[in-house]
This record gives sequence, structure tokens and C-alpha cells, in this order.
Amino acid sequence: MYCPFCAAVDTKVIDSRLVSDGHQVRRRRQCLDCSERFTTFESAELVMPRIIKRDGSREPFNEDKMRNGLLRALEKRPVSIEQIELAINQLKSQLRATGERELSSEMLGNLIMDQLKELDKVAYVRFASVYRSFEDIREFGEEIARLDSGKKGDDKKGADKNGSKK
Ligand SMILES: [Zn+2]
Repeated sequence: MYCPFCAAVDTKVIDSRLVSDGHQVRRRRQCLDCSERFTTFESAELVMPRIIKRDGSREPFNEDKMRNGLLRALEKRPVSIEQIELAINQLKSQLRATGERELSSEMLGNLIMDQLKELDKVAYVRFASVYRSFEDIREFGEEIARLDSGKKGDDKKGADKNGSKK
């Protein structure tokens, strides 16, 4: 980069080290012309897409809002904070991986539902019922039936609690 003192084109790196837990590189540079020294910091640009709401308005991605939504759905469910944080990190990676600058809130909701489906089915249904606002009770029942037919194995607890057939 150009020297900030004399705008010479050639500067050389005289020292380079990782800082802030390896999330940044700090470089000492020296101008080959005027010999002034200066420091640069380099870090990865982790840009999250903006969220397009249903009414067409845009808002910045809000991690706290997403976390609160997940926590609300997972209230009193047997899912650890570590699992939740892992899910949040995965969601953020997914959002970045799209490479999009803007994403619909619907797509964000679908990604969250995919994560919840893996974490806890009750939380998934809670979230989906709020998020998708199921048209009617039948549609809701169909969604649950789809879940039940999906994975039989780990369904025992839920079935027992609800008392299956009489
Ligand atoms: Zn210079």
C-alpha cells in the first residue's frame, strides 16, 4: 500500500504478527522513500447479508434477535447452550456462504427451521407455528405427521408423553 506520509508506492513489511486471538494480522511497514513507519491491521471481512422483511423493508441481520427466537422456541427443552451456540454459528456460516448481500426473512426462517428440526422437534414445531403461521390446524397436523414419519427412532419420548393411541 502507499505510504501515508509521502504517498510513495513502495513500502515494505518489517514485522507481521497475529493479534486478537488470531483474528487479525498486525503489520509494521516502512516506507522505502521517506523511511517513516506505520502499522496496518488486516482482518477477514465477515459481512452478513441484510434481511428483506415481508413488507419489503430492509434491516441489518441481528444475531441477538435470531438467538432470542431460538431460545424462545427451545424454552424448557433438553438442548444445551453449547448446542444452541453451535447452531447459531452454523446459521451465520450459511448466511455468509450464500454470498448474497440481501436475503429474505423467509429464507432466514427456513434456515432456522432446518437447524431446529435437527436440534429438537418440539422447538421446531413451536418456531414453525409462529413463523409460518400455519393456515389451519390440519396443515399443522400434517407437518407433525411428516416429522413423525421422518425419524421413527428418536420419537419414543414424544409419543409416550402425548399418549399415542387408545
Ligand atoms: Zn514515505
